[in-house]
Amino acid sequence: MRLFNNTYTMTINGKALTTNRVIKVINPANEEVIASVPDAEKEDLDAAVKAAKHAFQEWSRKTIEERSDFLCRLADGINEHKEEFMSLLTLEQGKPRAGADWEINGTVYWCKEIAKQRLDVEIIEETLEHIVERHHTPIGVVGAITPWNFPVLLAIWKIAPALMAGNTVVLKPSPYTPLCTLKLGELAREILPNGVLNIVSGGNELGQWITEHPEVSKVSFTGSTATGKKVMQSGASNLKRVTLELGGNDAAIVLPDVDPKAIAKDLFWASFSNSAQFCVACKRLYVHEDVYNDVLHELVEYAKSVKVGDGSDPESGLGPIQNRMQFEKVVGLIEDTKQIGAKFALGGQVEQKTGYFVPVTIVDNPPEDSRVVTEEAFGPVLPILKYRDYDEVIERANRTSYGLGGSVWGKNLTLAKDLAEKLETGTVWINEIHVFSPSFPFGGHKQSGMGVENSLDGLAEYTNSKTIMVNKK
Ligand code: NAD
Repeated sequence: MRLFNNTYTMTINGKALTTNRVIKVINPANEEVIASVPDAEKEDLDAAVKAAKHAFQEWSRKTIEERSDFLCRLADGINEHKEEFMSLLTLEQGKPRAGADWEINGTVYWCKEIAKQRLDVEIIEETLEHIVERHHTPIGVVGAITPWNFPVLLAIWKIAPALMAGNTVVLKPSPYTPLCTLKLGELAREILPNGVLNIVSGGNELGQWITEHPEVSKVSFTGSTATGKKVMQSGASNLKRVTLELGGNDAAIVLPDVDPKAIAKDLFWASFSNSAQFCVACKRLYVHEDVYNDVLHELVEYAKSVKVGDGSDPESGLGPIQNRMQFEKVVGLIEDTKQIGAKFALGGQVEQKTGYFVPVTIVDNPPEDSRVVTEEAFGPVLPILKYRDYDEVIERANRTSYGLGGSVWGKNLTLAKDLAEKLETGTVWINEIHVFSPSFPFGGHKQSGMGVENSLDGLAEYTNSKTIMVNKK
């Protein structure tokens, strides 16, 4: 199959579809237009939902083994084309090869592993007279909406469990990074029954139409907290089930017993992986005063060894910011940090050149109420903050409406675990970070989300709970 030509079509009912209106997609490393993709009208969405609704009849009645088999074939298809997916991901998203490799291999792995998950019928009570069973039944048409930081992996985090649970899907990628997702749809046309997976491309308005659509029964959304609130609001019209994976302002807490040189590399990648366009990047680095200067020094030294550049250059460790809107937001945050007189330990100068490049920027102990501390940067600007006692650092770390992730770094594991338990977040890592698995629940507390993805709990979010009781007498 010749998948990777430069034409991009939507997938509706197993067929290729184009539109008169198009959206131009830009390579963030050189600002050149790399492709035009369909910009769906409302009628296109209606057609996709209609196809998904029709396909639901048969798909939901297939056995779990049959659905699992389809997903494994989809995983194999992605795997066969993984080199092309990786190159295209770098081109549209900006991430260097190592990141594209992680994302595409992760996509294949997730698809295969979620295909192994089973929500068996649970016997809650069984006596001679009575039996009570809990079943999980599919919900219907799932609307899936994804962001631009990990467009392929986050799409499969939704597609795989939704389909395994017996639902059909209409997925909309971010208008900034639709290319790999449209190719995924094209591949799925060859593998899945018509209408089971529909991919539509368009702007933010298309996302809103999905959340308002009366025939969409569930929305699984990953994106910003502000948009997540809108999703929940418009989903209320027909009481859509919602899973929301939203923004974060994760704290990392560094204990006084660390070896600053040994830990610098981990802290760097914890904070700057994917150019910090990572919902669970460390976005506030709290370091104990006893080791603050040494950790700052080692972190800056390590950071100097990482090249920021075009992701297609094998020398680049970090790519550009993905789009102009986000680039300007990050530049604005740096300007604000300058204006309040905070000290830059590294970076802070954004060159006037082609491509949305922001240098690695580390801000030395800015005020706790400065924007660089309180806002999710979603770009390579990290405040490093000094603390003295543990109650104080927990209070500061939790002083945010976000609650996505966090991490604690140090040799004293009893203390580290105690702090981990006090962080008000959905995930906390100790002496590691960004370890994910199809079997680990992932989700946010507070305004970082609702529900979880991954694990059997995540799978269950694509089902209704149904209790069947039988009086055997
Ligand atoms: P965004 O909210 O701007 O957009 C996300 C998606 O929603 C896009 O596809 C967009 O077109 C669509 N959309 C926009 N307006 C909509 C509306 N009114 N109704 C429905 N859909 C709409 O987010 P983004 O800028 O693409 O992504 C960055 C954000 O995503 C960050 O805040 C980041 O922390 C968060 N994120 C969270 C996770 C997580 O798992 N918690 C993972 C990745 C990213």
